[in-house]
Amino acid sequence: MSQVINSRGYPSQQELRNAPGYPSQERLEKGPVVAIECIEEIPCNPCEQACPQHAITIGTPITNCPHLDEDKCIGCGLCVSQCPGLAIFLIDLTHSQGSASVAFPYEYLPLPKEGQTVCAVNRAGEPVCSGTVVRVQNPKRNDRTPVVTVAVPCKYATQVRGILRSRR
Ligand code: SF4
Ligand code: SF4
Repeated sequence: MSQVINSRGYPSQQELRNAPGYPSQERLEKGPVVAIECIEEIPCNPCEQACPQHAITIGTPITNCPHLDEDKCIGCGLCVSQCPGLAIFLIDLTHSQGSASVAFPYEYLPLPKEGQTVCAVNRAGEPVCSGTVVRVQNPKRNDRTPVVTVAVPCKYATQVRGILRSRR
């Protein structure tokens, strides 16, 4: 039976923690790893194809939710831009003393600049905290899905999933 995202339109933290693509707290604390926040049974599998470490499995049928082998994930981030559902995030709780980094797809212009202070938002687009842009990656292989990495206080790393759009 298909899992249904609640009436808010995005999954709750508890729903995500129970999902096969979400890493354990123990793995999160070891260093960079992806959180695959894809809990609907949809026919899709670019994430499986994108991972050179074979850390993501969908298998058959293609409507399976992605399963993350958290020990195989090396946190390279290659899968983040390849998800058409914009549902993959790279989290690094070891970014620096007291701060974590969160990388997410960002398909708006203008792109933020490295070093810029930004307003980090949660899955609902609500402000969570202030963050600093660490990296903006937009190589050709991302196929016009740039990936932005922001540093935020560690306690917000599982909440922050984007930034407020910059004004043109
Ligand atoms: S971050 Fe890299 S190693 Fe981890 S699942 Fe994505 S592509 Fe695979
Ligand atoms: S590519 Fe994205 S939307 Fe498609 S199955 Fe993987 S995580 Fe889900």
